[in-house]
Amino acid sequence: MTKFELKKITLILSPGEIKKAAEIIRSGGTVAFPTETVYGLGANALDEDAVAKIFHAKRRPADNPLIVHISSREMLNMVAMDIPALAFKLMDAFWPGALTIILKSKDIVPDITTGGLDTVAVRMPDNEIAISLINESGVPIAAPSANISGRPSPTKAEHVIKDLTGRIDAIITGGDCRLGVESTVIDLTHSPPSLLRPGGLSLEEIISCIGEINVVEDSVKSPGMRYTHYSPKTRLILVEGEQKPALSRMSRLINEFREQGLRVGAIVSRESSPSIECDAKYVLGSVDDLKEVAGRLFSGLRFIDEAGVDVGIAEGVFPEKREGREIMNRLRKAAKEKVICGQ
Ligand code: AMP
Ligand code: MG
Repeated sequence: MTKFELKKITLILSPGEIKKAAEIIRSGGTVAFPTETVYGLGANALDEDAVAKIFHAKRRPADNPLIVHISSREMLNMVAMDIPALAFKLMDAFWPGALTIILKSKDIVPDITTGGLDTVAVRMPDNEIAISLINESGVPIAAPSANISGRPSPTKAEHVIKDLTGRIDAIITGGDCRLGVESTVIDLTHSPPSLLRPGGLSLEEIISCIGEINVVEDSVKSPGMRYTHYSPKTRLILVEGEQKPALSRMSRLINEFREQGLRVGAIVSRESSPSIECDAKYVLGSVDDLKEVAGRLFSGLRFIDEAGVDVGIAEGVFPEKREGREIMNRLRKAAKEKVICGQ
């Protein structure tokens, strides 16, 4: 916020105050709300001025389109057209849930919501608070993650309060997000479909429903992939590879930094934690429990900033299957420096 910008009064609402939140959405305001993936920052997806407030509050680049959240198939038909059979198969299997699908957009959706594309990203969230907010508002709600652009996504109400107080109209506090990573994004506007972003619904589950798909992660087709994401402000180094060599490399790095008089923080697996000596440590979870690791990842990335350290080291040894795919994807985007060892 520049010093000339007026600070908004941000209401902190309980889940019992959905009607108040819906009134704010209907009158063109911005409301952060929990979903099963991460907290979203919502506004009426069909109201250009309301959506502009999301971009302003987050400092989000204008060409990065938003996901439109819906609560019914009727709402789907308000925003999308030419919906292929595969889309219905996926919706029947996984909605409500952590799957965003890209479809042909109807003209009613303003350019600001779609980043000027002729397609629209749609999702039905699996969270009662989110669904009642959309229902009560009576409009589809555009909602990117409720963080300042580039920062780790918020998985707790406190994260949103920290990033966006004074910049948005209200926050509905609804506890911790169940999954803790964003939705999987699939483009269904051509055949075969392509995976644009790994996320809360695993590629394995999608393939078991519709067969093989293209994996074109980081393609220019998904504008969001061009930007820095999920990064702590503190310098962060990701150490990738087999667990054993990665562990000794991490220990060596930590010692080198500490010899220079720097304070070092580490985000590590439960298995490696006892062998890591540093100034502040966050245990993500077991390499055998990728769901737990995924759920704690963004809190871990925020911890590096909160711990008052000069440098952070992240252990990147999670197997790239199921949730491991999105864990490694987010870690690689968060860390500007990478060390790959043990190959
Ligand atoms: P976020 O809501 O910030 O978690 O990000 C939404 C993701 O969906 C970003 O990576 C966007 O680039 C992507 N996305 C949204 N709409 C579209 C679209 N119409 N075509 C391709 N990707 C999209
Ligand atoms: Mg985001």
